[in-house]
Amino acid sequence: MPNHRELLKQSDPDIYDAMLGEEARQKKGIELIPSENYTYPEVLACLGSVFTNKYSEGYPGRRYYGGQEFTDIIETIARDRAKALFRAEHANVQPLSGSPMNQAVYMAFLAPGDTVLGMDLSHGGHLTHGAPVSHMGKIYNFIRYKTNPQDEGRIDFDALRKTALEAKPKMVLCGYSSYPRDYDYARFKEIADEVGALTMADVSHIGGLIAGGAMRNPCDAGFDFVTTTTHKSMRGPRGGMILCRKKFAKDIDKSVFPGLQGGPHMNQVAGVAVTLGKARQPDYRHYCQQVLTNAKTLADALMKEGAELITGGTENHMMVIDVVSSFGINGRVAEETLDAVSITTNKQIIPDDPNPPLRPSGLRLGTPAATTRGMKENEMRRLAGWIVKVLKNQDDQAIIDSVRGEVEGMCTQFPVPGID
Ligand SMILES: *Cc1c(COP(=O)(O)O)cnc(C)c1O
Repeated sequence: MPNHRELLKQSDPDIYDAMLGEEARQKKGIELIPSENYTYPEVLACLGSVFTNKYSEGYPGRRYYGGQEFTDIIETIARDRAKALFRAEHANVQPLSGSPMNQAVYMAFLAPGDTVLGMDLSHGGHLTHGAPVSHMGKIYNFIRYKTNPQDEGRIDFDALRKTALEAKPKMVLCGYSSYPRDYDYARFKEIADEVGALTMADVSHIGGLIAGGAMRNPCDAGFDFVTTTTHKSMRGPRGGMILCRKKFAKDIDKSVFPGLQGGPHMNQVAGVAVTLGKARQPDYRHYCQQVLTNAKTLADALMKEGAELITGGTENHMMVIDVVSSFGINGRVAEETLDAVSITTNKQIIPDDPNPPLRPSGLRLGTPAATTRGMKENEMRRLAGWIVKVLKNQDDQAIIDSVRGEVEGMCTQFPVPGID
């Protein structure tokens, strides 16, 4: 095999050095951003393969260009594995990432101005769920449901049903970027059926945990459309996937290509196929269980040390600390303080946040990446102790320096897959 890295080192040292810098950065600290993960070395091999040279507009057996004997093999394998894992009737694995995947569903089944009932963005909805700054928010009429502070911050289904009965949306949307609980798909489906709405679950964050059998599956609840990214808990290459009922298959495929995209990234599709192959193994099911165990352990330990968590805990891979009420600092300061001790997190708006998005009240943490490195309950308890210690003493440079040493010391014992 040619040594690709050695060639890069010689021909473009600026880019090569930046790559080495990023590898060192990923190794020395711990990644607690819940949407990130460390992908498999086999996926890195696919991404850096000659599949990136190939134009494969169309679908297996019906392509616009010749030379598709091997691209057809990988895309067919990826689709079949996706269908089997999610018990779905149809799968499209071509979306370039999560955002175009959601756009493709909307554009296939909604007309401009149609009403979509989705979660309020400060309560956990994603930008593509109609944020005013997104094009989707301008094209469609997004209306909102929320969580209920009187019910531990769970989804307020009574209010959701009332809004649905009044507004008669064309589509009911669930699935979130910042909601630390499992979803009651049956309840959504019941309300959507009552008003004749389509059902869509965007499980981008938890798609891997569903594939690994650790969380409920919206396909089992009869949802019309299920979308997920492939790079978050699923641990694959960046990408998106649409699962749907057979009766919608043609329209979804047409909407992805030629409706929205051109040629699929076949190196990425190969990586998705490999990722879904891994997700069928018992090891991956154990991984998903450990992601949840680690999240619960981290959340419990943080709360024991005095941190206040949105919804009072977690049932998935993520948690959101109200850092204003817990430590008297905003999310930006909390994120920067943890960066200084090599713990990577992200600031996060909380339900009806009085503070602006760049200085929000929350901090979001998640365990998929740490679990990929092999960390378990013991490491989660140590992390919780360090996080609380530095957030309580963010002005104390001696404490910051000593904690950074301890964090980096622990991280060196847990190698990052794909980096020697
Ligand atoms: C991450 C995410 C997306 C978008 O994915 P990108 O690949 O960043 O475009 C869509 N929906 C939800 C709920 C997400 O969490």
